Amino acid sequence: MIVPESGQDQRDALSVASLSRPELAGILDKPVSRSKINHLHFGYIIIRLTCTHQIHLSYGYQGMQALRERCQRRIRELLRSQDELVCIGEAEFAVLLPDLKNEGHAILAANRIHSELSSPFTLNNELINITAAIGIAVFPEHAGSAEKLMLNADIALETAVDMNLPYEMYSPVSEPSSLPTIRLAHDLKAAIAQDELELFFQPKIDLKTGSIYSVEALTRWHVPDSGYIDPELFISIAEHSGLINSLTRWSLTAGCRQSRFWKEQYDISLSVAINISPTTLHDAQTVDSVLHALDLWDAGPESITLEVTESMMMQKPEQSLRCLKRLRDLGIRLSIDDFGTGSSSLAYLKTLPVNELKIDKSFVINMVNDEGDLTIVQSVIDLANNFGLEVIAEGVENQTTLDTLVDMGCRYAQGYYMGRPMSAPEMDTWLAESAWGIKAKGIQPR
Ligand code: C2E
Ligand code: CA
Ligand code: CA
Repeated sequence: MIVPESGQDQRDALSVASLSRPELAGILDKPVSRSKINHLHFGYIIIRLTCTHQIHLSYGYQGMQALRERCQRRIRELLRSQDELVCIGEAEFAVLLPDLKNEGHAILAANRIHSELSSPFTLNNELINITAAIGIAVFPEHAGSAEKLMLNADIALETAVDMNLPYEMYSPVSEPSSLPTIRLAHDLKAAIAQDELELFFQPKIDLKTGSIYSVEALTRWHVPDSGYIDPELFISIAEHSGLINSLTRWSLTAGCRQSRFWKEQYDISLSVAINISPTTLHDAQTVDSVLHALDLWDAGPESITLEVTESMMMQKPEQSLRCLKRLRDLGIRLSIDDFGTGSSSLAYLKTLPVNELKIDKSFVINMVNDEGDLTIVQSVIDLANNFGLEVIAEGVENQTTLDTLVDMGCRYAQGYYMGRPMSAPEMDTWLAESAWGIKAKGIQPR
């Protein structure tokens, strides 16, 4: 007999439709078409409970059924009233997210679901842990039809399972070994080796002093005849093809070189923020690469900041913490990127040796017109201020947003309004000419 987990679970079984994938594709057509007409995004999330084999063996079909119902209840409670939860197999669920503002909100939902399913369940008075992998696809970014949307979420799910990630958003490189991907990976390897990548820089502004305090380095890859390749695409290719460590090494070295250059040119310390890929944070080589880059350019640890994303830190919290502590001990500044899309617990956050929380741009871009986004931004600012952390909002595209952020107690900001990502020479001009540049620091260009 399977004992209910809690008083709540003794309520009538939650009614969740069970459908096959073809049946679901049939009924998904309508809401997806509606999104098309209304120019809205439609998120599709597929969740697979992994490690359920053991539950089957230990608790039988009845146990599996009870577990499924408990998962359904936990997921349902996280969803909005317009979202739908569908059971599409023995250990798989689909979540339909109509009227989404952007992809960030689909990631937020996936992270919350993953975190909720990671807490232990009680079956027959025993605590059991399960794991879940999640695939995400969003209309119209990743697919133009319901069927393709489901297919692409399935492809993302397989990548999440293969790479042991909590979730994966669909990207064309998730497609199993497509020819263009193999070719791009081959070309990218050559581009890294031949130093053909380029760093662009985007200013991070201190709103109290009205001047730049740091720059984010964003890697660009220009391919003759094809133009600039989307960074999200080639970073993802690098991650999937084992090139990410060499790309990170390259960007660390180029970032230290640039910081050193500005120090010599203008006698200013601009910490260059380098993005550390989720898959490299846990890698022992990362700390060595950082030391090597600093050493090569005879740069102090304050020359660089590392930006690591919140959601991926949660994947291996203990390992992440160890790596972050080592970097912090070396005096490196650390920033948690895309903050707000993950689901870090307060307890975990408190232990993190980081300097800065960076509010994800998906909440900032439209915050002055959206109460929900405004609330999220305010709560991250309050959280950071309470924990004694610096807080920066990215995705600031106008003066109203900037003014609102100041009123809300946000000290730092980054966005197209102050400066887009620029090549090194463009950044030099910006530094000399912008009101937020070196003039605001009382420095004259040489
Ligand atoms: P990210 O780290 O979240 O970087 C911020 C992205 O937001 C950049 O896109 C930037 O151009 C964009 N952005 C900045 N301000 C605004 C704004 O006001 N409005 C809007 N709409 N967008 C804004 P980008 O350059 O396309 O980079 C995309 C992502 O690629 C980055 O996201 C980062 O995750 C990754 N990436 C870029 N360079 C590297 C790298 O060297 N290493 C690693 N691991 N990842 C990188
Ligand atoms: Ca970043
Ligand atoms: Ca970001």
